[in-house]
Amino acid sequence: MLVVMEVKATDQMVARVCVLIESMGLTAHPIPGAQRTVVGVTGNKSKIDADKVLAQEGVKEIIHVTSPYRLVSRECRPEDTVIDIGGLRIGDRNCVVIAGPCAVESRDQAMAVAEHVAKAGVRVFRGGAFKPRTSPYSFQGLGEEGLTILGEIRKEFGLLVATEALDTESLDKVAEYADIIQIGARNMQNFSLLKKAGKLKKPVLLKRGMSATLEEFLMAAEYILAEGNPDVILCERGVRISADSARTTLDLSAIPFVKQTSHLPIIADPSHGTGRRDFVIPLSRASVAVGADGLLVEVHHDPANALSDGAQALTLEMFSGLMEQIKTIAKVVGRTC
Ligand code: PEP
Ligand code: MN
Repeated sequence: MLVVMEVKATDQMVARVCVLIESMGLTAHPIPGAQRTVVGVTGNKSKIDADKVLAQEGVKEIIHVTSPYRLVSRECRPEDTVIDIGGLRIGDRNCVVIAGPCAVESRDQAMAVAEHVAKAGVRVFRGGAFKPRTSPYSFQGLGEEGLTILGEIRKEFGLLVATEALDTESLDKVAEYADIIQIGARNMQNFSLLKKAGKLKKPVLLKRGMSATLEEFLMAAEYILAEGNPDVILCERGVRISADSARTTLDLSAIPFVKQTSHLPIIADPSHGTGRRDFVIPLSRASVAVGADGLLVEVHHDPANALSDGAQALTLEMFSGLMEQIKTIAKVVGRTC
């Protein structure tokens, strides 16, 4: 349920409505907007006395939300959520490119890639320190040492860093170093991880599970918002269907769907979304054209010898070419890059 406050409702009126909602055993989530505040209500397993809420001073109307997601929905917050990370605005009219290797493999490797992407205009560097690998015998990431290297990259190049938290145990450590905490596709429905990330005050990049429906994807984001963290960046990273052209299929229509249904920013990951270097640039162009708020792209200075995801990593030269192309496409759809 959503409680829409009058434009002229005071903070005290909003606070009184929240107290009333809480006294009913429910949770109130005040969401201040540019014009008015909306109070999201969660926890209503039984019938709510909506009339009593409606009778409060400053309440304009009550919207009963039929969709299972509430806090992430457009009904709850008509304006786009814009996440400001040290002046970088995600979800605004700019198109944010997050780039870097799949994994931090060594200081030299990460520095070489970071230097190049920073020169190409990137503001957020990515690289996994804790890697979710299909095989236990594959490179698992450098762990804390990888986080330290990311910390050095932040200092040296003034880049923000995004890196994955694999589990609840490593989340706090990852949060110490990361500007954006990634929750990977395989963890999209790791509910204890989502809840714990929801208690942090750091933006979360939530990737869509490989076989998740869009409803399940948005419900996963709902977990994070329901715990009090409003800063979620969604990421479409490809789903498994029986197409044999690529490892996964980037679901481009997920982007306009999410933009209509939710106020949260959504970016596209054409690297994991295809698994093929030669498809990354065309699918990046397409993602920006359909309205993605940004891209997540894997880049490596020596893809042939990468310790993970080498087949989809762009070379440094290809990456520079991509950035130029994206700027042109972004302009066509009224964005900057
Ligand atoms: C990654 O970003 O390196 C990664 C493992 O992504 P995903 O969770 O989408 O597979
Ligand atoms: Mn990867």
